[in-house]
Amino acid sequence: MFSSLRQQMVEKYVIGAGVTDCKVIEAMRRVPRHLFVDAALQYRAYSGTSLPIGFKQTISHPTTVAQMTSALELRGTEKVLEIGTGSGYQAAVLAEMGVKVFTIERIAALAERARQIFETLNYFTIALKIGDGYVGWQQYAPFRRILLTAHSKKIPEFLLQQLNSGGILLMPLGSEQQQSLVKITRQENGQFRQETLSAASFVPLVKDKAGELADLK
Ligand code: SAH
Repeated sequence: MFSSLRQQMVEKYVIGAGVTDCKVIEAMRRVPRHLFVDAALQYRAYSGTSLPIGFKQTISHPTTVAQMTSALELRGTEKVLEIGTGSGYQAAVLAEMGVKVFTIERIAALAERARQIFETLNYFTIALKIGDGYVGWQQYAPFRRILLTAHSKKIPEFLLQQLNSGGILLMPLGSEQQQSLVKITRQENGQFRQETLSAASFVPLVKDKAGELADLK
């Protein structure tokens, strides 16, 4: 039952929303999204909506996941750092695309739940850490791609430092009322280029430690 609902979700909210990246489409056809939400909400897992996952957090709308994953322009086996594991769904979609995923979540209970799902589904290429994503994951840096699934008014400086030359950082930049998805590219000359992709609506990135914030403008 969930398998046919999942194919319908992909037709409607991924392909229907204009996403053309075949690898994203195939990955989302495979990841069992219903396992990333509470049992009572599983029947809504394949509808075009974000859903609560507890602790005032949400699993993103399928179109948002598809658009963000596609904007990462993944080509092969890049190392990807995700800030805000939440349910773990976005990380699973990335893992299905064949990349090595490093994901950080500050709420331990969410992280533990995600860890269990990754184990159950055999996502061995996902490394998960409980902690403050503002400071990134120095031990495994640099990353070719960095993805934030929570909004912030400024770009965490540590994350820019952990981005490869030629790498892409994608994040919802702005306030709760007004945010947009921006793509920051670290150019070969060391400069950062910033482009706005679309409007966005994410939960806030919570700052636990004294991370430095950068303002590119
Ligand atoms: N990618 C998730 C959706 C995440 S919602 C999914 O696919 O389900 C955003 C998540 O970011 C929340 O779980 C929240 O707890 C987490 N978060 C917020 N601030 C953070 C920080 N500083 N470090 C790590 N995680 C953070």
